[in-house]
Amino acid sequence: MNTLKYLAGYPLHLQTRVHELIEQGRLGAMLAEKYGQPHTVRSDGQLYDYVQALKDRHLRKSVPLGKVTYDAKLQVMKHALGTHTTISRVQGSKLKTSREIRIASVFRDAPAEFLKMIVVHELAHLKEAEHNKTFYQLCTHIEPDYHQLEFDVRLYLTHLDMEQR
Ligand SMILES: [Zn+2]
Repeated sequence: MNTLKYLAGYPLHLQTRVHELIEQGRLGAMLAEKYGQPHTVRSDGQLYDYVQALKDRHLRKSVPLGKVTYDAKLQVMKHALGTHTTISRVQGSKLKTSREIRIASVFRDAPAEFLKMIVVHELAHLKEAEHNKTFYQLCTHIEPDYHQLEFDVRLYLTHLDMEQR
């Protein structure tokens, strides 16, 4: 059985189930049926507004957003599904901190729920740098279905990899 790199952290029985779906050629159809809704967040400006709106709703008090962009060069796995950088610059006499969020451009064409999942993930990093319990509590506070969505995003990325072969 080949390793499923996006699913390495998940229990073996789930990985076996995914292998079955792949062998039966059903993974893509299953995802398309469950997540048929595209989104309209096409440009970096639209992405910024989308991220800002979610932040306003759930994490109003965290550091201000800096740049928010889609990044075609971002490798999803290498950066644990996204990146978050703290930029500090001096403005007048004050050190101003804002946070830059880059989203791998594969999410531009992904179903709406998957974009939401990755944005929730990056927003949670505004408050918690590590992938620890506090981090995942933040994620599920913003999006109660977070864990299911992250799993399905990993399925989706697995499916895209297969298609490219
Ligand atoms: Zn992360």
